[in-house]
Amino acid sequence: MNHNETLFLRAQKSIPGGVNSPVRAFKAVGGTPAFIHKAQGAYLWDADGQRYVDYIGSWGPMILGHGHPEVLAAVSQAMQQGLSFGAPTEREIELAEEIIKLVPSMDMVRLVNSGTEASMSAIRLARGFTGRNKIIKFEGCYHGHADSLLVKAGSGLATFGHATSAGVPQEVVQDTVVLEFNNVAQLQEAFAQFGTEVACVIMEPIAGNMNFVRASVPFMQAARELSQRAGALLIIDEVMTGFRVALGGAQSLYAQQIPGFAPDLTVLGKVIGGGMPLAAFGGPKHIMEQLAPLGPVYQAGTLSGNPVATACGLTTLRLIQEPGFHAALGQRTQSLMRGLHQAATQAGLPFSVDSEGGLFGFFLLPELPSNYSQVMQTKGALFNQLFHGLLQRGVYLAPALYEAGFVSAAHTQEDIEHTIAAATEVFAEMVAG
Ligand code: PMP
Repeated sequence: MNHNETLFLRAQKSIPGGVNSPVRAFKAVGGTPAFIHKAQGAYLWDADGQRYVDYIGSWGPMILGHGHPEVLAAVSQAMQQGLSFGAPTEREIELAEEIIKLVPSMDMVRLVNSGTEASMSAIRLARGFTGRNKIIKFEGCYHGHADSLLVKAGSGLATFGHATSAGVPQEVVQDTVVLEFNNVAQLQEAFAQFGTEVACVIMEPIAGNMNFVRASVPFMQAARELSQRAGALLIIDEVMTGFRVALGGAQSLYAQQIPGFAPDLTVLGKVIGGGMPLAAFGGPKHIMEQLAPLGPVYQAGTLSGNPVATACGLTTLRLIQEPGFHAALGQRTQSLMRGLHQAATQAGLPFSVDSEGGLFGFFLLPELPSNYSQVMQTKGALFNQLFHGLLQRGVYLAPALYEAGFVSAAHTQEDIEHTIAAATEVFAEMVAG
C-alpha cells in the first residue's frame, strides 16, 4: 500500500469520505485521491513524491501558480502583524478599491470568506432590495451550497425545483425556479408567467461547473433585458471566471458584444483570494447600501476581510495587472487545447475544446455542448480512462467530466507539451479499448 492509500484509509475514519469537499474523493472517476504534500509553480507533489502538472490550481485561485514569491512575502508580512482582528483595516479598503477599479459594474463590494457565502448573500440582497422571493437559476450552474441553490429542475416551468441534497426542506426551494441554460424561449416564458415575482436571475457567464459552457450572447442579452424589464436583478457569478478569463471578468467580454451590458450584482471568489479564503459580492451603491449596517439586509462574518487573506488577494490582483498577463495566459491555454484536440482527433476520438484566458474545457463529444443535458451525454467511462491515464503520467486534471480546467502563469510551454504527449499515449490506449 502506498502513502496515498494509507492516508485515504486513515482519513475515512475521521473525516466523512476522507475529504472536506466531495469532488476530492475521486468518487466519479474511482481510485485513490492523491494526498498533496506540497506545491510550487505549476506542480503538485503527492504523499508518495509523485509530481503532477496541476490543471486544477485549487479550483481556480492559483492563477499565478503556487508559491509566487511576492504573494508569499505579502502573506508572511501580514501574518507578522496579526492573523485576525475582527475590526476594519486599511487593506480591506485597498482590496475593495482594486476590485471596483477592475470591475466597473461595481461601486461597492462586501468581502466574505467563500463563494457560497457571496452568492447566498447576493441573493438575500436581491430579495431584500426587490421585496420579492422567486429566484431563477440554470441547470448545471453552481453557485455554492446554500440551501436555496441546491435545486434541480421540476417537471415543468410552473413547477418549482426539487432539492438535490437531503436536509433541504421543500419550503426553502419552493421559490427557486431552475431553467435550461442557453434556452432563451424558456426564459421568456418564465418571465411572462411570473416575472413580477422574480427577485433575481443568477448565472455563471461561462459555466465552469458544466466543464466549460458559454452563455450565448443572445441568452445573456435576454437575461439582462428580461430581468431589467421585470424589475428583477441580474446576478453574474464570476467566482470562477472573475480575473481569470479576462482582467474585467467574463462581463467585460459580454460588454464588448452587448452595448452597455452590466450585471446588477457580481459574485467573486477564487482569484481574489489568491489561495486564501476570500470572496466578495458587489454592485451599484443604491443596492449595496441596503446591507447592514446601513440597510435592512443582514450579512456578517467573524473572519470577513481577514488581514492575511486580503494581503494574499491584493498582491495577486496587482500581479495579474501586468501588461499582457491575460493575453499570454490565454495563448498558453489555447495551445494546450489545440494540442489535445489535434491528438484526440488523430486518434479518432470525438473531441471538442473551448477556452478563455486561463479557463478551459474539453469534451469527449464531437460538438461543444450548450447545456447540462448535452454535457451529460459524455461517456463517463471514457473520461475516467483519460483522467487516470493522465494522472499516472503526472498530469492532474479535475476528477470529474463536468469540471473546468485551469492554467496558471507558471505553466510553461514544456508543461503543455508534456501534457499533450501524455494525452497522445492515453488517447491511443482509449481507442484500443
Ligand atoms: N460559484 C461558482 C461559479 C463556483 O465555481 C463555486 C465553487 N466552485 C462557488 C460559487 C462556490 O464557491 P466556494 O466553494 O468558495 O463556496
